[in-house]
Amino acid sequence: MERAPSEKKCRGEVIRSRAPGYFSGMGTLKDFPHAILFDRDGTLVEDVPYNGDPQLVRPLPGAVRVVRRLRAAGIRCGIVSNQSGIARGLLTHAQVDAVNRRVDELFGPFEVWKLCPHGPADGCSCRKPAPGMVLDACRELGVAVEDTAVIGDIGADMEAARAAGTRAVMVPTPVTRAAEIEAAPLVAGRLCEAIDLLGRLPGPPSPAAAPDREAVLGGRP
Ligand SMILES: [Mg+2]
Ligand SMILES: [Zn+2]
Repeated sequence: MERAPSEKKCRGEVIRSRAPGYFSGMGTLKDFPHAILFDRDGTLVEDVPYNGDPQLVRPLPGAVRVVRRLRAAGIRCGIVSNQSGIARGLLTHAQVDAVNRRVDELFGPFEVWKLCPHGPADGCSCRKPAPGMVLDACRELGVAVEDTAVIGDIGADMEAARAAGTRAVMVPTPVTRAAEIEAAPLVAGRLCEAIDLLGRLPGPPSPAAAPDREAVLGGRP
């Protein structure tokens, strides 16, 4: 079955930017988001443009482990994904569904999936950078936007998060534009560091897991 999610520690890569003042109003480091909404392509899986083939779904390195670690800590995980290939006639809904089922197979089922099938010219309220999908996902999960974070690889993900009122971390790929990286509130080199940037991940919901910090410090001679 599922292995313990913590064999390998995440460390070593530099956070590439941190916009000044971003932490104000974010709460303390203990306030880890209750829900995380991931972009799909280029964030959780390799970005295969307009992919309609489940066989081409490849998780990015470490991504499955990150999602499992979050779930083990009781964090709700969802996906918000622009799929304009549908509007462009390059993909059918059925193909996108098949790809998404494969993602659920590889990562375990996400609690919420929000897709925008529209194109840039359609003026919909769901296509990122619009906040529609993020807001809908929060509503569906019953989690407040302040308790939610979006993780994505491009500026549109960050903009959607900002417009919705959630936190956001960018994990750029080699093709992410420099200006978008520069504008992102938080930037992590890898997905596992994005999680670290969001605060201290709560332990699994078993009360006997670890002594609390106070007790440890207080007990020291
Ligand atoms: Mg992406
Ligand atoms: Zn849309």
